[in-house]
Amino acid sequence: MVKDPRIEKLLNGFSKFVKEREIPLTQKEKRIKNRYTITGDIISYSICPRQYGFYKFLGYAPSNPTQEWYGSIIHRFLKRAHMSFLRTGRVVNDEEIERIFYLIEKSMEAEGIRATNERVKRSALEVLKKFCLIEGESFFRSVIEAELRLIKELDNFILYGIIDVLRTEGEKVEIWDYKGMERPDETTFYGREKLNRYKKQMYVYGFLFKERTGTFPDKAVLYFMNELLKGNLEKTRFIIDFRKEEIQNEVENFIEEFKRIVEEIEESQKTNNWRLPENIDKNTCKQCDFKWDCPHYWTS
Ligand code: SF4
Repeated sequence: MVKDPRIEKLLNGFSKFVKEREIPLTQKEKRIKNRYTITGDIISYSICPRQYGFYKFLGYAPSNPTQEWYGSIIHRFLKRAHMSFLRTGRVVNDEEIERIFYLIEKSMEAEGIRATNERVKRSALEVLKKFCLIEGESFFRSVIEAELRLIKELDNFILYGIIDVLRTEGEKVEIWDYKGMERPDETTFYGREKLNRYKKQMYVYGFLFKERTGTFPDKAVLYFMNELLKGNLEKTRFIIDFRKEEIQNEVENFIEEFKRIVEEIEESQKTNNWRLPENIDKNTCKQCDFKWDCPHYWTS
């Protein structure tokens, strides 16, 4: 039972939002607006416009789904573990973790999403066991909502995002995003770039949250799950403090940048011209399905 009046206000805002979602957003204008997400569109486009355009609009499906499998099983598992906590009032034990994990794995297999090898599978299972052990009851008890879907109609498009977890830490409201990876290395250019992209992702979620509730969450937490495997607990959480004015200004600026990127995407789609990125790390190109005829790949 949530007693904090601020949290109650947020929950009321969400139930109103769920009702509003049932009304088509574009009803008044009779015009269909495209829907964009920060992860599926803006970040992918920012990494490589050419790769984004080929996957998104030219009908190619990624041939290397390892990352998709890993991220997906982590998210699906944690949602199920939270539901189990709500039902039983306790955190799942190792035996239950394995049972849930293999059930999810089977259903993913039926959808055609497979782990590339046993090592990846073992690593995901170990990460999840460690998460349940280390974050444990205090984490699951503090979750207000898992997979919170937020949407906002802007002038020319619809902005959409899914927050992995909305939780409280004492009096503070936090939004969390699980990352099935190690924390990017901030000592390198591409590590900083990557972390910056994830920060922007949380900026968008903070913005959507504010549009819905009238206030920013106190914090956003990027949780780098694979640091648990190395015992680097201090590196698991990267925190963004929305109470800082400079962060709120950065959010506003990024929403303007988001709008500009959407315009660029729509222009590229119209002309079917997807430009090459100015900078890109070699690993992304190595795993790219379109490298064989990519001028960037052969010259970098
Ligand atoms: S090889 Fe690299 S630059 Fe070329 S399309 Fe793929 S990701 Fe983009």
